[in-house]
Amino acid sequence: MLRVDSPRNEYYYTPNPTPYSLAIMAQAKKALAKKQRTHSESRTRANTYLNYIGGLWVPSQSGEWSENRNPADTRDLIGRFPVSTTEDVDAAVAAARDAFDAWRLTPAPRRAELMFRVGEILIRDKQEYTADMTREMGKVLKEAGGDVQEAIDCTYYAAGEGRRLHGFTTPAEMPNKFAMCVRQPMGLCGLITPWNFPMAIPSWKLMPALVCGNTVVMKPAEDTPLSTYNLVKACEEAGIPPGVVNLVMGHGSVVGARLSDHPAVRLISFTGSTETGQRVASACAERNAICSLEMGGKNAIMVMEDADIDNAVEGAIWGAFGTSGQRCTASSRLIVHKKVYKKFNQQLVERAKALRVGNGANSKIDVGPVINQDAVEKIMSYIDIGRNEDGATLSCGGRNLTKGDFAHGYFIEPTVFTDVTPDMRIAQEEIFGPVTSVIPAKSLDEAIEIANGVQYGLSAAIYTQDVNRAFHAMNDIYTGIFYVNASTIGAEVHLPFGGTKATGNGHREAGTQVLDIFSEWKSVYVDYSGKLQRAQIDNAKAIG
Ligand code: NAD
Repeated sequence: MLRVDSPRNEYYYTPNPTPYSLAIMAQAKKALAKKQRTHSESRTRANTYLNYIGGLWVPSQSGEWSENRNPADTRDLIGRFPVSTTEDVDAAVAAARDAFDAWRLTPAPRRAELMFRVGEILIRDKQEYTADMTREMGKVLKEAGGDVQEAIDCTYYAAGEGRRLHGFTTPAEMPNKFAMCVRQPMGLCGLITPWNFPMAIPSWKLMPALVCGNTVVMKPAEDTPLSTYNLVKACEEAGIPPGVVNLVMGHGSVVGARLSDHPAVRLISFTGSTETGQRVASACAERNAICSLEMGGKNAIMVMEDADIDNAVEGAIWGAFGTSGQRCTASSRLIVHKKVYKKFNQQLVERAKALRVGNGANSKIDVGPVINQDAVEKIMSYIDIGRNEDGATLSCGGRNLTKGDFAHGYFIEPTVFTDVTPDMRIAQEEIFGPVTSVIPAKSLDEAIEIANGVQYGLSAAIYTQDVNRAFHAMNDIYTGIFYVNASTIGAEVHLPFGGTKATGNGHREAGTQVLDIFSEWKSVYVDYSGKLQRAQIDNAKAIG
């Protein structure tokens, strides 16, 4: 057994050191000595951030860095982040493997106590994290605050499970025999996350993984490493032991791919595009690893002729243009009954034109930038497809804003297409930007058919005053989430979250359902009869 001083002057133990963990230990000792000399931190110097492996803040073995810049103003350099290698991933996996036994054997209520401390730190530093998020991701301050709040809610909710993590008992078929089912951790989990909810989504995975007794390696999106870094710093400060939470930053094709095919990683929890998710799933299938996927969406709001139109328009504006349309649950299709189609469109276009686009750090702004230049090009290409290939009517927006205050950022006007038919590409494919399509329908049945007629199945909504129609739609829409008289967004952490069809692979995050991703069931039989009792054989006699 090895004992090593961590930089926090605590100790950790590893029962079975591997070559990687020995290397980490050696690095740990060296780093500790250096820390005692120089008080080095998680940032080596201003604006240069490090990976977190085995309780140590370390640079990538590549020695390379990538710049993280503000999408509202690319002159603003947020920091330099490591471009990690497969060796960095291997080191993090080794550290997580070494930490696993001690963490899984720590009673769940004790694990949860540390997580409650994380929650307190997140509350304390919410404002700072919010500003960091707006700066690196672009969403307006109010929404960034909501993202941090979701991480706080998720942390407390998951920590509460430390005193539950319920299993169950059930009668055994034999006399003097007891049967029960208990949860056990999966082991080592790889968490791969996107940039659009850069603290909420990592926390949705991290917190349930921890309470279940797993250790993790986190891989944040290239565009938003700072928010995940802030979350991991909070875990360190809360006293989560070294090696339990590891952070490796860098490219998906290197870090994400290595995590996905690493033989010691038992589970990959992935959120991102359907295309990448399928790649991750294939890598996991090759080695029989478990894989939980949260992927793309093409969500619809249905507006019936009896709807409160003002309310429906507000829901559509919030759902289509919040986070600049870069939500998996964005309302990118508005299916509107023909009887109210004209009125709805008029109000929608008026409201969309009035939205103020700009730097989300300014509290007067409604719609911030999109994430990067690639996103600008993709979204603009869909606007072009809508106009020229699909032949829809561009009712407002459609421009990439590049002059004046917009000159150094990635800004696109809130865009509404009308006269859209369900088969058009803009009505079928995920655009992931501030673009929505209004599709006319002549009845509820037709609206439901259109809503279901895409490859995705994340979220849907209906605006109606008729309870019968609301329940009819709820029953027939094939999505993981459904809203009545509310937009397609607005998930709460204590309800399961996820989608059907190309959106997911049958798992649900959040709620207590997430525990089924991060723990495995173990069925336990206790025979206290003192003799051999054969299931399916001896009891058969009793019923002849
Ligand atoms: P993305 O698929 O490009 O990237 C997601 C993550 O995967 C990133 O960390 C990336 O570095 C990593 N990655 C890239 N290539 C990889 C590979 N070969 N192996 C392993 N990992 C790899 O997605 P994005 O652009 O960051 O996010 C936008 C997408 O995420 C949209 O499609 C959106 O709908 C989806 N999303 C879904 C949900 C949900 O809950 N269903 C939530 C948020 C976002």
